[in-house]
Amino acid sequence: MTIDFIIVGQGLAGSLLAWNLIEAGCKVLVVDNNHTGSATMVGAGIVNPITGPRLTPCWRLEQLLAESRRVYRILGAQMGTTFYREKELVRFFTNDAERTLWMQKRSGSGTNRYLGSMRAPGWKPDIVADPFGSFSPGGSGHLDMGSLIANLRKYFENRGCLINEKLNYTEVILENSMVKWKDYQAAKMIFCEGYAAKDNPWFQWLPYKPAKGEILDLEASSTPPIHQILNRGKWLLPLGQGRFRAGSNYCWDTIDDNPTGTAKEEILSGLKSFLKFPFEISGHTAGIRPVVRDYKPVLGIHQEFSQLGIFNGLGSKGALMGPFFAAQMADYLAKNGDIDKEVNLLRFI
Ligand SMILES: Cc1cc2nc3c(=O)[nH]c(=O)nc-3n(C[C@H](O)[C@H](O)[C@H](O)COP(=O)(O)OP(=O)(O)OC[C@H]3O[C@@H](n4cnc5c(N)ncnc54)[C@H](O)[C@@H]3O)c2cc1C
Repeated sequence: MTIDFIIVGQGLAGSLLAWNLIEAGCKVLVVDNNHTGSATMVGAGIVNPITGPRLTPCWRLEQLLAESRRVYRILGAQMGTTFYREKELVRFFTNDAERTLWMQKRSGSGTNRYLGSMRAPGWKPDIVADPFGSFSPGGSGHLDMGSLIANLRKYFENRGCLINEKLNYTEVILENSMVKWKDYQAAKMIFCEGYAAKDNPWFQWLPYKPAKGEILDLEASSTPPIHQILNRGKWLLPLGQGRFRAGSNYCWDTIDDNPTGTAKEEILSGLKSFLKFPFEISGHTAGIRPVVRDYKPVLGIHQEFSQLGIFNGLGSKGALMGPFFAAQMADYLAKNGDIDKEVNLLRFI
């Protein structure tokens, strides 16, 4: 069968790219090995516009935020559900110096206005300890990544364009500016394999820096309702009915998806520094964030094999970065659009 594109991987990157291409009228096949090692199936889907100890607004914040809100709204309307919700995030200051830094930055211009407004200590004294006060950045939210991926899987299945198996590189044949795999012949194959791209023979040379992270599922029976995402180094995401997710850590040494006691203790100790209520641990998962050296996405076509491309590097901000760059990659593939230099894979050559 002759088609336009084979997309390898149905995580956030592959799903959004394939959806864009199908909506643009292209014939697409998605190949995914049942989400084995998928970051999307583990990730929390939090959109936090202000990150790190320097209280830095995310790179290209306004552009990415506007596009992610727009795309998740369209997807939700198309699939009859809501994937993305604006959700307040309360970040607790860890010391006086951090609060002073917030005040200096807040008086600055541009996206510093996303630093929001400050609260004095004592916000919800029965739930949290906040001796230095807190602030709520503007534009925070939560993407239900699991639900989005499940719904997009149905969307692909209904169109008969999803194959649930591992794509073996040795079965890929490059011939006369086409790429062949099994019974399919396509103009291009685009790899959206998350951290597994480190083993891809055509894209192994990219400077991957995969980061393992772990998340705990928590249950608390006697807590007053919490609607905000709480953050003090570690975060707590309320899911309703006394259920929460909590994370996370960064580990660059061991790249596997086995939950560890060390990360569990790190997350628990972080939570205990601000949470005042008791909880039980009901689950523990680990995943690998697909990070490249400069923490930006990586998009484009192989310099030698024009039939092969990549869309990867969403790192720890897939929910925010995915929609904008999936649309850019789709536009490039289907309509000869441009890829920004900052994210083009050619920046690493
Ligand atoms: C602990 C943790 C917490 C996170 N929290 C957040 C958060 O709060 N907010 C946020 O925005 N992001 C978060 N992230 C990051 C987010 O999950 C990623 O940015 C995003 O999911 C990456 O999507 P992806 O499609 O590139 O990769 P993946 O989700 O890993 O998808 C790759 C897909 O390719 C498939 N695949 C790979 N190789 C093959 C092959 N040879 N054949 C067939 N299929 C293949 C895999 O099965 C998988 O389904 C978190 C990640 C982790 C690990």
